[in-house]
Amino acid sequence: MMTDIEIADQAQMQPIEEIAAKAGLSTDQIEQYGHYKAKINLPVKAASGEKHKLVLVTSINPTPAGEGKSTVLVGLGDAMNQLGHQTIIAMREPSMGPVFGIKGGATGGGYSQVVPMEDINLHFTGDLHALTSANNTLAALIDNYVMRENKLGLDPRRIIWKRVEDVNDRALRNVVTGLGGLMQGVPRQTGFDITAASELMAILCLSVDLMDLKRRVGQIVVGYTYDKQPVTVKELGFADAITIILKDALKPNLVQTLDHTPTIIHGGPFANIAHGCNSVLATQTAMKLADYTVTEAGFGADLGAEKFLDIKRRVLKKRPDAVVIVATVRALKYNGGANLKDLTQENLPALKKGMANLNRHIHNMQRYGLPLVVAINHFDADTPAEMQMIVDNCHELGVEVVTTDAWAKGGAGTHDLAKEVVRLCDTPSEFHELYDINDSIEDKVKTVAQQIYGAGTVSFSKHAQKQLAQYKELGWEKLPVCIAKTQYSFTDDQSQLGAPTGFTFHIRGFVPKLGAGFIVALAGNMLTMPGLSKTPAAVNMTIDQNGKITGLF
Ligand code: ADP
Repeated sequence: MMTDIEIADQAQMQPIEEIAAKAGLSTDQIEQYGHYKAKINLPVKAASGEKHKLVLVTSINPTPAGEGKSTVLVGLGDAMNQLGHQTIIAMREPSMGPVFGIKGGATGGGYSQVVPMEDINLHFTGDLHALTSANNTLAALIDNYVMRENKLGLDPRRIIWKRVEDVNDRALRNVVTGLGGLMQGVPRQTGFDITAASELMAILCLSVDLMDLKRRVGQIVVGYTYDKQPVTVKELGFADAITIILKDALKPNLVQTLDHTPTIIHGGPFANIAHGCNSVLATQTAMKLADYTVTEAGFGADLGAEKFLDIKRRVLKKRPDAVVIVATVRALKYNGGANLKDLTQENLPALKKGMANLNRHIHNMQRYGLPLVVAINHFDADTPAEMQMIVDNCHELGVEVVTTDAWAKGGAGTHDLAKEVVRLCDTPSEFHELYDINDSIEDKVKTVAQQIYGAGTVSFSKHAQKQLAQYKELGWEKLPVCIAKTQYSFTDDQSQLGAPTGFTFHIRGFVPKLGAGFIVALAGNMLTMPGLSKTPAAVNMTIDQNGKITGLF
């Protein structure tokens, strides 16, 4: 089998106008970025009399390699169209941090990919760069403000707005800026986050139009005054300038799969340190145009799906009609204690033990009242006995399960899943909210930790408790919570695999993101700037004189 990039290189792409036409968009509704990429002009009018069904693809806890959620998503979109169900895929934009770090790209794999994959995984249409620039322009404006008259009395020690970059760069987690004397600004201790974890990324993903974006940018709290009052971007007068930098980035991007399914890729917050869902505008646009929109949420259903259902759904005003939980034999074995290097060997005891992880995710999605199907993403090394064990397990729980060969066969390997998804979309169901938005922040964190993660108790550090009291006083309680937690475990400790129960879940602090409209709770030692591994993906990449790239994945 060829590598992802070799397969993508051989793709016969259709001109983007043809893909747009397939999606129901005329040429004046798109702005072309070369032959195969375009931005969609907003607003898009809804096609009348369509079904507008929404399917959310999520997964069990991943192993360090990534388990093929995007691959299954793309295969599903292709399969739906092949079976005559008009479908658009809505995905997240990759970040260059993980592309050059450990994970590789985020455009699917094998014969279920989105193209042009090199472009999408690198600079694409520049959205991530625009976000980085907007974020850092705001940082520079704040530092300049403090150095000048500082009329509001913004305390440099209490500025919470950080700079960002789209790189895994541990050396910048903690920095001191403004060194060098009077004319270099006011020295202060700060740090960098990765762009995908920035509040502006979340705002881009949760805004419903340009004026909503401006309103949200204005609501960002950048820090506190000497007498501990919050200071917003609007009060500083920077909201319009920052919005101007983001005006094109707000438009969703259109590309295609290897099988020419229209695919909207827009917004890329990580699900562990951010809210993990593509933009509301991308999902909404796809839903307006297609009978079926298939979308994803990052990492396992404890992170991405929970945040989709408790954060994005509130803005989208639509809950999924069906959920697909992607599981792999190898990730379940890993969750059952098998070593990463042994995942290609049959290991039924580890698989049986690791099944607890899948079952917790099934239980959680059922808790929301959502119709669901388990999709086993088939890898070559999976044995018939292993596959059967997952099928038997799901049937015992009364849950539908299908095997998919999206990676090896593209849409053709995913027809069974598509048929089941169409059936589920017509199954009546009743959605149950996880928590009441009027609950206290503390209670909302406890509800997610206890009901979704399986925690016994939640401990809040002294600092976190002080913040809770402050937020209550400031009237910031009625917002959803966005928990920053490791993707590998239901707990805040990445070595605790499977489905632990009764553990203590630790919250060390909070970050208010009032523009995004949620409060981030930092669990364990989760950091908002990733580092690089011992052998980053970058080390194995090559480029020749013709610009041909290998090793991007
Ligand atoms: P996720 O979305 O869960 O992070 P991806 O879909 O990005 O995972 O897939 C991660 C990597 O795994 C990709 O390089 C992809 O080609 C590969 N992959 C996915 N499914 C399979 C499969 N069934 N067999 C072999 N490789 C696969």
